[in-house]
Parts: sequence; C-alpha cells; structure tokens
Amino acid sequence: MPDLPQKHRKPKASVRKHQATSEQPPSAQFPSQWGNSRGGRAWMLLRERILKRDGFLCQPCSKEGRTRIAKEVDHIRSLAQGGTDHPSNLQAICIPCHRKKTAEESKQGLQRVATIPSFKLKPLIPVTIVCGPSGSGKSRYVKEHAGPNDLVLDLDVIKVRLSGQPMHQVDDSWLKPALRERNAKLGALAKQPVRYERCWLIVSAPTWGERRRWKEMLNATSIVLAVDAMECERRTRARADPMKWADLAVQWWKRYTAGDDDLVV
Ligand SMILES: [Zn+2]
Repeated sequence: MPDLPQKHRKPKASVRKHQATSEQPPSAQFPSQWGNSRGGRAWMLLRERILKRDGFLCQPCSKEGRTRIAKEVDHIRSLAQGGTDHPSNLQAICIPCHRKKTAEESKQGLQRVATIPSFKLKPLIPVTIVCGPSGSGKSRYVKEHAGPNDLVLDLDVIKVRLSGQPMHQVDDSWLKPALRERNAKLGALAKQPVRYERCWLIVSAPTWGERRRWKEMLNATSIVLAVDAMECERRTRARADPMKWADLAVQWWKRYTAGDDDLVV
C-alpha cells in the first residue's frame, strides 16, 4: 500500500522546500491523482482538510459506535484498486483501523481471483449454470425459473450492489471484488447449513470446455440460451454503449462450442 502512515511525512528539508516554492493555483488543490507528490505539501493540506471535515474522529470506528481520535487519512477505496485522492474517497481513520485495513487490502491484492474457482468440496444443493451471450436473457430466464428459496449468483448484480453504479455501466475495476464475493458464496454451498434449495449461476461460458469445468466443479447441470446475435443486439440496444454489448454477443457466438450434455433452449 502506498499510503502507509510514514509515507505521509516527508523529511523536513523537503517540506520546507515545498513551502518556499509552492504558491499553488486553486485548481491544483484537488487533482484526481496526486501522483508522486504524496507526502508533499498538497497532500498535507488535503489531509488536514479531511481530518477537520470528519471532526478528527475515526470514521470506521464511528460506524461501529466507537469514538476514537483519527490521526491518519485513508483511501476508502485503495489506490491499488483504482480509488482516487478525491475528498469523497478519503476518510479520517485511527491508527489501528488503518493498519487493519491496509493489511486486508494487501492480502487481497496478492490473491489472484479465479474466473472459474476450484473448490475441494461439492455444493450440498443442486446447481444450475445458465449460459449465453449478452442479451440472451439469462437473468430473466433465472427469474422465471428460480424458486423463492433459491440463490441466484449473477456477477452483474453483485457488481451493481458493490459499486452503487447502474446496471451494465459498472466499471471493470469492480470485477475482481465481485468475483471474490461470488466465489465465496459458491464455496459456502459446500458447508452446512445451506439455507437455499438450489443455486442458479449465471455465466457467459461460450465453450463446452468452460461449461464442463463448471459442471464438474459444482456437480451442476447447464442450460444454454442459444439466442442469435441479431436478437441479442436488438435486446441490448437500449443499454448505454450498445455497440459493446452487440460485439460481446458476436464474440460469444464465435467462441461457442456445443456440448452433448447441455440443455439448449
Ligand atoms: Zn478506528
């Protein structure tokens, strides 16, 4: 993590140099990234401002009902995960909370997130994977077929929930956290107690090889929504960036390989 506490401080000589030379224009006060200037005067000013804004109280502690003095400023979403230095992404934080959060973030950064995870144990409930190109209606299919006690795992839905961004407009930096959450939920299906009757997993999986890996991993059955690219294009036309979705559907069909154990609808 780039923002360990000691890195917020620069040797005195350097600070003095900054003070002597920098009369910054107002527009330079909140650039989206401070680049290598962390530790410099601009960051120190921003840091003071965030601490004041948050009343010098640790925000994670406040959320849990504790009152603790904040001495540091934290990136809510870390720089490594695409966060910025914008004030909306900064919070006052106490040293223990900062240490804990930094350790968790670096641990996450080291873990590769698998698109197709591997689990030691099989799920204790039936799993159905629903595959198809963008716009083939996977979510709708599942909505129509899932029971009230079923678990539906859809990366798009997880990305929306984690990011707070609109459906089909979530930026790619949320893919990893979403994969991590989905994989954790899949893994949990192998441990008692499981409070669902069935799991529906929405994946693109155009090749039979990918579907077979999923199926072996999860003891799953597979459904392929074989909706042609033209129809997919028609259905995704209203989304933001329709070209992207149309292209994804074309690419899906280019990669598609049939398997004899898929239910094709
Ligand atoms: Zn705290």
